[in-house]
Amino acid sequence: MQAVRKIETILRDEKLSPRLRQIAEKVFAGQRITEDDGLCLFEQGELGFVGALANYIREQRHDNRTYFNRNFHIEPTNICLYTCSFCSYSRLIKKREEGWEYSMDDIMDIVRKYDGEPVTEVHIVGGVLPQYDVEFYAELFRRIKAHRPELHVKALTPVEYHYIFKKAKISYEEGMRLMKEAGLDSMPGGGAEIFHPEIRDQIAGGKCSGEQWLRIHEIWHELGGRSNATMLYGHIEEYRHRIHHLEQLRQLQDKTGGFQTFIPLKFRNKDNQMSHVPESTVVEDLRNYAISRIYLDNFDHIKAYWPMIGRNVAQLSLAFGVDDIDGTIDDTTKIYSMAGSEEQVPALSTRELVNLIRRVGREPIERDTLYNVLQDYTDFEFEEDQAFKGYVSLPVVTKN
Ligand code: SF4
Repeated sequence: MQAVRKIETILRDEKLSPRLRQIAEKVFAGQRITEDDGLCLFEQGELGFVGALANYIREQRHDNRTYFNRNFHIEPTNICLYTCSFCSYSRLIKKREEGWEYSMDDIMDIVRKYDGEPVTEVHIVGGVLPQYDVEFYAELFRRIKAHRPELHVKALTPVEYHYIFKKAKISYEEGMRLMKEAGLDSMPGGGAEIFHPEIRDQIAGGKCSGEQWLRIHEIWHELGGRSNATMLYGHIEEYRHRIHHLEQLRQLQDKTGGFQTFIPLKFRNKDNQMSHVPESTVVEDLRNYAISRIYLDNFDHIKAYWPMIGRNVAQLSLAFGVDDIDGTIDDTTKIYSMAGSEEQVPALSTRELVNLIRRVGREPIERDTLYNVLQDYTDFEFEEDQAFKGYVSLPVVTKN
């Protein structure tokens, strides 16, 4: 295997520092690296070095398989009570007329627009406002399930759950049980930002703490649910904060095994309170994917969220530990385009996604939210007319 040969070449390199050699040997032996090792990789690991290690792990786990799904997003509102300084949503609370606040019927209209379309998941997350409370979301999940029982409802982060459960004066346990009964299938990974209070208090003060974020996921895992995790990087945090964050996730995963995927989220600086903070370079983005892959030895998947980093970097990331590039999306999320991400109109047809993966020598696998394989596109031949009709024709439903 090429990945093995690369590691052997690295280990033979006499210029490699003893410290990095020791870490490479651990990775090659399938051993867990320590927090100090992780910090050393961030501080000293060049892109080629960490990339080779991460690609080795990726190919051990998944070979060339690269996952994607067919989903659509609903963002009930882009107005938010909180004032996270990296977020382009929070600024709208004072100019509410510029934002949107969907009613239950508006949201169900969006769900109905996908009737007959081959989507497997609806991803619901947005700003925090009082009218979107426990009753609202429980009723929404019930209505979606009544309308389309097989559609996987992946919804809300601990930021929303913490707020709505507190408002309803119920415990996290009661609340998560209620959500499950209403139809919640899994939780996305958002709202994690950076757990360390030194940074979290500065960029996301007021919303749930790192401990609360982790506790809500833990309770969800104890109820048998699966979820994802994220980390917002590349702003004012230091490498030690990233390692602290990854370590908290690794520890919880040891305990519950409920996380499926880790998704590093690049800080974007358009139209938010941190516009003066420069964005990370592509090299740093790729290093961050790679080190995350190496550190989180108990996570099955590392995902690159292509609407945020763009298609080309998403392709590159597949050689740096990433094995999943999310979904077709269909222009239904504004969270990253509003913050200045590469993809201002994020939509890819199934064929485009498949080709994007194939062009870098990987095997495209369509999955459902829980990583059951729905279709292996490795040798799949698209009929000519599918190039024009297929998934490309889905309606664009975001209002603004
Ligand atoms: S990051 Fe989330 S909680 Fe913070 S302001 Fe934006 S939408 Fe609100």
